[in-house]
Amino acid sequence: MSIAICPGSFDPITLGHLNIIRRTAQIFDEVVVVIMQNSTKKSPMFTVEERVEMVRKATERYGNVKVDSSDILLAEYARQYEGAVIVKGLRAASDFEYEFQMNLINKQIRPELETMFLTASGKYTFLSSSVVREMAMYGADLTGLVPNELIDMIKEKAKVWRNK
Ligand code: ADP
Repeated sequence: MSIAICPGSFDPITLGHLNIIRRTAQIFDEVVVVIMQNSTKKSPMFTVEERVEMVRKATERYGNVKVDSSDILLAEYARQYEGAVIVKGLRAASDFEYEFQMNLINKQIRPELETMFLTASGKYTFLSSSVVREMAMYGADLTGLVPNELIDMIKEKAKVWRNK
């Protein structure tokens, strides 16, 4: 059975992330989306539990996607899935540089662990979680940026953040 691991901070999940997850789910038998807590990104908007819940809601229609979280290094986390491949999305040259570096670290720890990249869909190359957070903070319309079923939850959270 082929297994893919899609890691990220997903703070929050966007339609760009979902596009990568959906395409990965068409290629692999099983996909594990893992919310990484050991990211260098400080003070996330959503708790890990909230991010897991949002990714679950957004992916429940796919039969072969499960959601997990981790606070250990990705290469160590991936050990539990034998033969698993890491799949990531690439938007721009800046993504490439960062991902190339991450891949070197993973290879240092586990040389047999492979990473594959899917190029971002044209309409989502501009889209990132930080763009969504910024727009939500200004009360902008999030339609077309995040899954519809998550819009209210993101708006509510942004309201709390605005009043902090
Ligand atoms: P972000 O950079 O938005 O905070 P994450 O750290 O959660 O995203 O990224 C998880 C993965 O999703 C990374 O491989 C990243 O390149 C990819 N990704 C993020 N946004 C998009 C997008 N709009 N299209 C394709 N891939 C994306």
